[in-house]
Amino acid sequence: MGARHRTAALATAVVAMTAAVVVPAEATPHRPPAKTPIASGYGGAVVSDTVESTEAGLAVLRRGGSAADAAVAVAATLGVTDPFVAGLGGGGYFVHYDARTREVSTIDGRETTPRAGDEKMFIDPATGQPYPFATAVTSGLSVGTPGMLATWDRALKRWGRLSLSDTLRPAISVADKGFPLTPALRDQIVSNEARLKQFTSSAELFLPGGKVPDAGAVLRNPDLADTYREISRKGTGSFYGGSIGRDVVDAVRNPPLAPDATIDPPRGRMALQDLKVYKTIDQDPTRSSYRGLDVYGMAPSSSGGITVGEALNILENFDLKGMDRTQALHHYLEASKLAFADRGRHIGDARFVEVPQKQLLSDEFAASRACLIDPAKALPAPVAPGDPFHPGSCEPRTAAPAPDNEVHTNHFVVSDAWGNIVTYTNTIEQLGGSAIVVPDRGFLLNNELTDFNFAPTQGEAPDPNLPAAGKRPRSSMSPTLVFKDGRPWLAVGSPGGSTIITTVLQILVNRIDLGMSLPDALAAPRASQRNTAAVTAEPAFISGAGGLTALGHTFTAQKEIGVAAALEFDRWGKVLAVGEQARRGGTSAGVIFPVR
Ligand code: GLU
Repeated sequence: MGARHRTAALATAVVAMTAAVVVPAEATPHRPPAKTPIASGYGGAVVSDTVESTEAGLAVLRRGGSAADAAVAVAATLGVTDPFVAGLGGGGYFVHYDARTREVSTIDGRETTPRAGDEKMFIDPATGQPYPFATAVTSGLSVGTPGMLATWDRALKRWGRLSLSDTLRPAISVADKGFPLTPALRDQIVSNEARLKQFTSSAELFLPGGKVPDAGAVLRNPDLADTYREISRKGTGSFYGGSIGRDVVDAVRNPPLAPDATIDPPRGRMALQDLKVYKTIDQDPTRSSYRGLDVYGMAPSSSGGITVGEALNILENFDLKGMDRTQALHHYLEASKLAFADRGRHIGDARFVEVPQKQLLSDEFAASRACLIDPAKALPAPVAPGDPFHPGSCEPRTAAPAPDNEVHTNHFVVSDAWGNIVTYTNTIEQLGGSAIVVPDRGFLLNNELTDFNFAPTQGEAPDPNLPAAGKRPRSSMSPTLVFKDGRPWLAVGSPGGSTIITTVLQILVNRIDLGMSLPDALAAPRASQRNTAAVTAEPAFISGAGGLTALGHTFTAQKEIGVAAALEFDRWGKVLAVGEQARRGGTSAGVIFPVR
């Protein structure tokens, strides 16, 4: 299997152009290997969205690279093959287990508000009201200072065996030679077509000749290959203050609007200095225990670790194994509802607001929330947040609804022969990010600042997630590691905006409490209760939810929730690598040695 597959076939078929080059499907006799969503074996494993990115990671592992090296290769290749959900224009959270020191560490590489941003930045001066969400989404204003490349660099410095240029090589090769357009990526182009047409650079890259390429056509990205080459030669300074950075800032402040553009988006406030001062944060993970297992997750600026941990702590008050399926799922939904109320009220960037992390993750607080759950009926939602400083009252209260997002980016997992593990969720926020491609650079810019609340959502109480200069918007990303008897057992994560938290939680409940295998735990139909009146759920979940409806749950259908990737380790060094069998067209798992 491999990204090596296409070299000879394409050498003659592709003509050099500056933007994306598309070759008709029939001109490419070599096809990549079919996607395999499940693999097991030894010596290292990768699960990621695309065949090319998984192969890039495996190739780096085969060369003696560590899990961190392979993770950078995967992430960089996803920037080519999964450009609507990954790449240099975004940020993310990198969770790492070091087998030698037995330490779990995390890197917060979240996008950051430019220094010229402020609490009112999403208030339209013309109306005094918040910009409509759709206006902010496709604009330079929503672009946060990207943390992606800085995260890769930091991960390599801490745990790498190879250089940045070594790890970028597979991505450069795929960008140069091209890859076949998958139906999943084609769908993403189609759903973003109207936005991409607003910007000349974006239309050139993704709508060559003015139209959506056919599935199977070979897509190249020579601009991105050159950008990666420049970074390889000059280092990360070329992005954080150098010529690539200048192009990023230009695109944010003056996006290349098409002559027939129908929007006049609010301009961004990023300056070169924002890139120069950008820093990732080495962050302690969150830690909680669940039924004797140790669960590590991402601390703020992500709400993922605390919210997954709190919901598990609430569930620990109940014997889910002894319940029927309806009752177990009822408790899962209710625990999630309560934890989301607390997330909304208490979690934001901890450098800017006081986040009571210890209290939110305490068993005492969890017990004060668990006692609200009524086995006979669903709590009316939204429920009010609890007071983690004074837990005790068991009085259910309702609250005002707060907005939330449920868009998709990507999550992947890697392990290596030494036993190191990476679980890394990274993003440009929603599909296609801001829809602004940096001219001549081949990558989309994020719209991560739309993860802030544009106006206060917590009534009289302060809102922890309002924008401020230098602040990171609250995330839901939940790259998670679970340990059994002190040894790594599971690595898991998913994209999906705020449904990330419930997807990770549901997979853990499926695997730990409901006795499912890891592949079944990922494949099972999903439901997401984020303290809203109705539960968002996949159609297959709703069709089996009669018992839950009788308890008062109502449902809103969503075709797919999350795109998870997970690893499970046994005591003898074997790893089970599991991606999605159907969601997002299926994802790609691989191992170094299928048998020992
Ligand atoms: N922007 C989202 C967050 O940080 C993640 C993107 C996604 O996967 O949807 O929570």
